[in-house]
Amino acid sequence: MIDNKKISKFAISIVEDLQKNNFQAYLVGGCVRDLLCGITPKDFDIATNATPNEIRNTFKASRIIGRRFKLVHIFNRSELIEVATFRSGDDEANEGNLVTDQSGKILRDNIWGTLEQDTFRRDFTINALYYCPTSGKIEDHNSGIAHIKNKKIVSIGDPMKRFSEDPVRSLRAIRFSNKLSFKIDRDVKSAIYKKGYLLDNISNARMFDEFCKIFLSGIAEKNFNKLVSFNLNKYLILTSPSNSHFSQNLIKEALKNTDKRVKNDQSVTPGFLIAAMLWPELLKKSRGDKEINLRKFFRSMDQILRNQQKITAIPRKFHSYIKDIWVLQLKLHSRIGKQPYKTFKHPRFRAAYDFLLIRERASNCQSNLGDWWTKFQKNNSASQKQQILDLNEVSEENSFKKFGFQEELI
Ligand code: ATP
Ligand code: MG
Repeated sequence: MIDNKKISKFAISIVEDLQKNNFQAYLVGGCVRDLLCGITPKDFDIATNATPNEIRNTFKASRIIGRRFKLVHIFNRSELIEVATFRSGDDEANEGNLVTDQSGKILRDNIWGTLEQDTFRRDFTINALYYCPTSGKIEDHNSGIAHIKNKKIVSIGDPMKRFSEDPVRSLRAIRFSNKLSFKIDRDVKSAIYKKGYLLDNISNARMFDEFCKIFLSGIAEKNFNKLVSFNLNKYLILTSPSNSHFSQNLIKEALKNTDKRVKNDQSVTPGFLIAAMLWPELLKKSRGDKEINLRKFFRSMDQILRNQQKITAIPRKFHSYIKDIWVLQLKLHSRIGKQPYKTFKHPRFRAAYDFLLIRERASNCQSNLGDWWTKFQKNNSASQKQQILDLNEVSEENSFKKFGFQEELI
């Protein structure tokens, strides 16, 4: 049923090495699911009855990671494979290794178990399939194969309990249903509605990981719409109570643009999306009487990033990227003398220009500023010079203050 040629040779060799050492070993989770759905997996996970120390001792190039959930990373020059030990997820014989908080959220789970027990700690039946590439057999203890055939996202066990244990499963259900075009089972849907609020409790680092999976995988717009329908978007994106029409358009346009880039194999960064998503808030906070108040603008940038960080972490390396894109929006307006050349040379010019086009699309702005910069990039230096002269003759309209971003403040 599964063609081993579609599986990473390195992953297969790890399974074989574990088996040679008398351990059980299987490919598991997303890769088996994707292979059965005709999708090329992006990574391969392995499950085994070897403990992290035993795995570590079997493979030279390996490292134990995690505390909450100990795993082993095995790597070669180009690949990294995650190997997890079967867990029982059962605290009967609690050795202090399974720890939950008052809401039932699992804080630590390092109780080893059998394959069958391991299936019960996985989130959805379609994610609990274990494939042995040596025998070609799939272990399916929860009707995962049937649910793949019926295109259904079904929880393993009571979703109310499972989503309390780990609220991120709500987001995963939404993500998988869009990725695979599967229906979300009724019980799972109702658990998302009832337990979604627990996402408030999840560390911002984990939420950032999920943010990237949701918005950088080529189906960002679809994912966003479904998040909105479950009212979960607020756990990923700082949204102000007066969510304007422009702000909604801008998010949609930025997500569309990201999806298009993924489709065309162009690079995507969460920084760009975060810059777009938070822009309306920045404008709102920088509002002067009739125009943008620059002091407020610069002061608000860090404050807004800090507020977003309460929800999803934003790794340091993206901070200056985001702020550059924002500040360049002002610079793109000012086209006097040497300024356009400076702006054009800025390492973030391209991203800032892309963002300008998105802003214009989202606000139905008639400023033609995007067009001007499109021409500027294509023109030779004589024509660029003329472009600037032509502008200066028209008026001082090239001052960003004159623009006031009116269309975007409505
Ligand atoms: P993708 O990699 O496409 O996002 P995936 O299913 O492989 O999907 P991973 O996060 O790579 O997702 O996890 C691998 C496997 O580990 C899953 O298939 C699932 O069996 C299990 N798993 C991951 N996260 C959870 C979770 N929050 N709760 C329960 N099981 C999980
Ligand atoms: Mg995976």
